[in-house]
Amino acid sequence: MKQHVLILGAGFGGLELATRLSERHEDAVRVTLIDRNDSFVFGFSKLEVMLGRQTVEEIRMPYSKFTKQGVEFRQETVTAIDPVSRRVTTDADSYEADFLVVAMGADYDIEATPGFREDGFDYYTVAGAERLRDALGEFEGGRVLVCVFRQPFKCPPAPFEAAFLLHEYFTERGIRDSVELSSVFPMQRPVPVTGEVSAMFRDGLAARGIAELFDHRVTSIDPATHTAQLDGGGTLPYDLFIGIPIHRAPDPLAAAGLAVDSWVPVDQTNLRTEFPGVYAIGDVCTGPRTVPKAGIFAEAAAAAVADDISASIAGGDPPAPYAASGVCYAEFGDGLVSKVEIDFLAGPQPVAQRHLPSREFAAEKREFGANRRARWFGL
Ligand SMILES: Cc1cc2nc3c(=O)[nH]c(=O)nc-3n(C[C@H](O)[C@H](O)[C@H](O)COP(=O)(O)OP(=O)(O)OC[C@H]3O[C@@H](n4cnc5c(N)ncnc54)[C@H](O)[C@@H]3O)c2cc1C
Repeated sequence: MKQHVLILGAGFGGLELATRLSERHEDAVRVTLIDRNDSFVFGFSKLEVMLGRQTVEEIRMPYSKFTKQGVEFRQETVTAIDPVSRRVTTDADSYEADFLVVAMGADYDIEATPGFREDGFDYYTVAGAERLRDALGEFEGGRVLVCVFRQPFKCPPAPFEAAFLLHEYFTERGIRDSVELSSVFPMQRPVPVTGEVSAMFRDGLAARGIAELFDHRVTSIDPATHTAQLDGGGTLPYDLFIGIPIHRAPDPLAAAGLAVDSWVPVDQTNLRTEFPGVYAIGDVCTGPRTVPKAGIFAEAAAAAVADDISASIAGGDPPAPYAASGVCYAEFGDGLVSKVEIDFLAGPQPVAQRHLPSREFAAEKREFGANRRARWFGL
């Protein structure tokens, strides 16, 4: 009898886990992979759409191309989960699993910031990136705020990458002198992984004349006056407001009793939840130690869960604990990309080796995307 592994969400984590299980256990496991969408998009490709460098059609990878032995993809929306019986209901069917893996990522709560839907722009969604691209095309100058409302959010460098890329974009259009560009965020420093990593982003902002408004919490924006309200009582005027929406776990997870205080708690050594046979990986999960929400860590978590499921099936020793390790690339504009090699959980503190932006790392980042495109979709 094949064991049934049910994976909810075909993003970085779900795709990698399904691929590993197919490679390893074609004969012992059957996998059902469920996603509400018909295609996958890299988070970083949304920046390209925002800048008008790539179209949505170019960045989409259709799930119809994800063809792995022993894996069945279903385009359905998960509506209910019973983690005790490992039974999942979708808008089209219901499933029972021997192993259930929640890999549903993070959703956005646009309404949690009053005024944002009416007068703000985002590039964290594909539709938002297209809308912002169009607005940027018509923008002739003024005050631009790139604002993080609240932690946690996906990809800690992404708000700063957007600021760097907008600097390049406005410079290329010859209007940079007419633009006052500010990066606004609630942390004490950008990308607070280690002091060295923060300094690289802080120096990048300063070198490009981008104002750094740290320890600033925007609570709402006023479409009538084009001002952002700060929790301390002050305001920031803007002509173009770009926000990183507040994140939350997808809907069925709280009702299922899986999400507690927004996210799904796991044992960070093996990504198991408190429910036997139920795992959570990637952006949706949380634990005693902070692991940023990023594709590379979702992918590393998928590898750890593949090992843990293999050990359960084959009865071997428990695998090495999940280390939340990976390589993070960040755009600095002008074709320059930085590289940070990180271990979040391997030791008592996160350890990060940073490499300053270069064209060599831009090529490595392209390779990173191309590898996954080929590995998962054969494209
Ligand atoms: C602008 C930007 C730039 C980024 N750059 C990088 C980068 O350079 N490097 C990096 O590592 N990370 C980057 N990220 C972050 C990265 O995209 C995410 O952290 C990563 O996708 C998380 O993987 P995941 O598998 O946890 O979730 P996701 O990849 O988000 O996948 C979750 C899936 O679950 C599905 N789903 C959710 N709810 C349901 C439901 N009810 N029913 C069915 N399906 C459902 C979704 O449709 C989705 O496909 C970036 C993100 C953004 C927004």
